[in-house]
Amino acid sequence: MAVERTLSIIKPDATRRNLTGAVNKCFEDAGLRIVAQKRIQLSRAQAEGFYEVHKERPFYGDLCDFMTSGPVVVQVLEGDDAIAKNREVMGATNPDDAAEGTIRKLFAENIEANSVHGSDSAENAAIEIKYFFEDSEIVG
Ligand code: ADP
Ligand code: MG
Repeated sequence: MAVERTLSIIKPDATRRNLTGAVNKCFEDAGLRIVAQKRIQLSRAQAEGFYEVHKERPFYGDLCDFMTSGPVVVQVLEGDDAIAKNREVMGATNPDDAAEGTIRKLFAENIEANSVHGSDSAENAAIEIKYFFEDSEIVG
């Protein structure tokens, strides 16, 4: 298993409910290390750019509204097989389908306000990490 890095975002529904620490505990309990982290307010342009791949989806506008509705915590997680492991810890997009004990099962409000984002491939992880972090901000 290779050591990988993945981009995680704790979304506004979770920061609003003061769940940053609770979400981070899930990552750390799963063996993922938080090697970079900052709390930011996304601009509309940043949210639109980040979710560009979903531009044609009917929920794109609402998603960008939601992602700019409050602070987010952007993070780089590192560990063995970190990209797949994080997706596992996050749970399914829709909390109704998420496995017991996953972050989305525990904390998500609905399919949109689902508490966390995680990169879905090595290629996207590299792109998404660069979207928010300089190399010098990532300390493994
Ligand atoms: P994931 O975050 O699990 O990778 P997607 O990449 O498919 O899921 O979607 C990106 C985000 O868009 C989701 O995390 C969620 O916030 C939102 N979203 C996805 N599907 C829907 C939907 N049917 N209705 C509203 N929002 C959605
Ligand atoms: Mg996705």
